[in-house]
Amino acid sequence: MTTKQLPTALQKMGLDSPMALALHLPSRYEDETELFSIEDALSRGRFSTVQTQGLVIRNQVLFRPRRQLLVTIEDDTAVLQLRFLNFYPSQQKQMAVGAHVRVRGDVREGFQGPEMVHPTVRAVAPETVLPSSLTPVYPASAGISQTIIRKAVAQALREPSLKESLAEFLPSQLTTKFLAKQDWPSLLAAITYLHQPPADADTEALLERTHPAWRRVQFEELLAQQVSLKRAHAIRRQRRAPQFLQAQTGGDGFIESGLLRVLPFSLTNAQQRVWAEIGNDLSNTFPMNRLLQGDVGSGKTIVAALAAARTMDHGYQAAVMAPTEILAEQHYLKMKEWFEPLGISVAWLSGSLKAKEKKLAQAAIESGQAQLIVGTHALIQETVSFAKLGLAVIDEQHRFGVRQRLEIQQRVGSELFYCHQLMMSATPIPRTLAMTYYADLDVSVIDELPPGRKPIVTKVVKSARRDEIVSGLRDWLGKGLQAYWVCPLIEESEVLQLQTAEDSFAQLTLALPEFKVGLVHGRLKADEKAAVMAAFKANEIQLLVATTVIEVGVDVPNAALMVIEHAERFGYAQIHQLRGRVGRGSADSVCILMYAEPLSLAAKERLQTLRETADGFVIAERDLSLRGPGELLGAKQSGDAMLRFVDLQRDAWLIELAQQVAEYLLVEHADLVERHLERWLGSRAEFLKA
Ligand code: ADP
Ligand code: MG
Repeated sequence: MTTKQLPTALQKMGLDSPMALALHLPSRYEDETELFSIEDALSRGRFSTVQTQGLVIRNQVLFRPRRQLLVTIEDDTAVLQLRFLNFYPSQQKQMAVGAHVRVRGDVREGFQGPEMVHPTVRAVAPETVLPSSLTPVYPASAGISQTIIRKAVAQALREPSLKESLAEFLPSQLTTKFLAKQDWPSLLAAITYLHQPPADADTEALLERTHPAWRRVQFEELLAQQVSLKRAHAIRRQRRAPQFLQAQTGGDGFIESGLLRVLPFSLTNAQQRVWAEIGNDLSNTFPMNRLLQGDVGSGKTIVAALAAARTMDHGYQAAVMAPTEILAEQHYLKMKEWFEPLGISVAWLSGSLKAKEKKLAQAAIESGQAQLIVGTHALIQETVSFAKLGLAVIDEQHRFGVRQRLEIQQRVGSELFYCHQLMMSATPIPRTLAMTYYADLDVSVIDELPPGRKPIVTKVVKSARRDEIVSGLRDWLGKGLQAYWVCPLIEESEVLQLQTAEDSFAQLTLALPEFKVGLVHGRLKADEKAAVMAAFKANEIQLLVATTVIEVGVDVPNAALMVIEHAERFGYAQIHQLRGRVGRGSADSVCILMYAEPLSLAAKERLQTLRETADGFVIAERDLSLRGPGELLGAKQSGDAMLRFVDLQRDAWLIELAQQVAEYLLVEHADLVERHLERWLGSRAEFLKA
């Protein structure tokens, strides 16, 4: 079969080769292997879908109560009425009087006796043999009939070249060592089975994708993923990066030791541990690729600053990048506070800078005059070239697309150098993800909050009780404490979002005349935002009404109460992040999740979970099961799901097996690796290296 023979509609779906067709696996099946007489069909069809056949003896279009087609068929045993509320002229012709048709559907009691409504119909000769396998139903885009896909797949399965590309090439020692006890079919047998399961197949296991044939396919897919991730890991280790050794006692390390000296607190044990791990990475000759993970408020920023300090001590630049302007700004202010007293030049680069300021910043980055650079996405634009970048820190890395990960490299003499990368995230990576998508990422976890933090009490309250909440707020502010009032994200309209925030602001200003209420939102200019935040920090503002711009980075310990309006509109991670703004001081902290009815089931469950736990891991797991890994990783922009057949939750146990086999394969049979990757990933292989 050449691709030219394939309908373009199939090619558009990516079904452009026998291999692609073979891997286009059914989503479900129809059982057309059994045929009942009409009499039997009439009784059995009330409990399950049945297939029967007969001669058309009547075909009429009725117009009352609405236009419909009524067809009657008969065999030696009985007659059966078929009813079509929508139909094409072609169907009318297909079921002309005298035609013989095979029909499949459920039987129900109609006004004029038992009938089938919208059965599937095929015109067949009475003696047409029954298929011996279940009929596959394939995922299809609109306008492509099942018949076309079925034919193309069946033809692909007969291709001799396919037998070759699906041939077992895992060496037998390997299959006996790892796979024997699984009792899985070979890949070719598994794929053939999934396309054409026998009439007595375990359809439930097929549908749930737990059947051994599915297992074999899932295993192969995971194997490809593991192999390519491990290869990416090996490639990284062969790359060169500048080596930043820890200063000898009494040596230089001026910036690092200076930073530790100006710090108003000492590092927690967890911070010390992760800093040692990162410091060790920086002393390698290959680039670090590490995720620093720690719950909101666990103190990741200072660890990043230490890594930057060591980098600068070796005469290299460090960059800190954050996904939003407000978060980047927080980092910029923190870094300035810590580093400027040490004589370090800290530069700021964001998209909102005026053209002239941007040019100046870029020039300072390019000349090397800027030693530490903080900013947004603007940092990775082509117009920015670093004099000597040694470390890139990426905060909230899951908010960046996979393709945006930095691949910054530079030539020093004849050698190519890559910079070290430190990603930071408050969203824990569930274990299954860490073992798959993130297998080439080293992970450090800060599992301890700075001392003195109190747990946050979360309450879920109907918005009908708004007055009560406001009066509670008055008592709270009366004690000299501060609070946040968060207005919902309105994705469809920034204008509408601003308006709700302004409404709440006006209402609360009126309701709480004895206190100063402030408002901050995304439309404010950077300096206006900074002024409001500074006033809040100085307790000149007691209640801060805000849109989700405060989601990350804001740090006011005296503000220990947060009200979130329309909490039902927020996702898990968002509320978890928001809530992390409180609980930073020594006061008891409260978070009130206000919701409007009616509440969807999913929203109800979400709010309940958030009330019951503040454990970032639990919340991330829930989030994962809800949204799928793509979104969590920021991979959805890529449009390419890497795992088509594997469900990370359902199939978690397979990952470990695939990992073992991948390791074995890479060491013992490196020659087979390419073949396996080619077969599974084709053009997608590149993506995995990103
Ligand atoms: P996150 O991990 O959410 O980015 P931050 O780095 O913003 O957290 O730290 C949260 C707050 O905790 C900041 O005010 C920071 O100065 C403070 N902090 C960090 N480490 C410590 C520590 N070891 N002891 C006391 N306070 C700390
Ligand atoms: Mg942070």
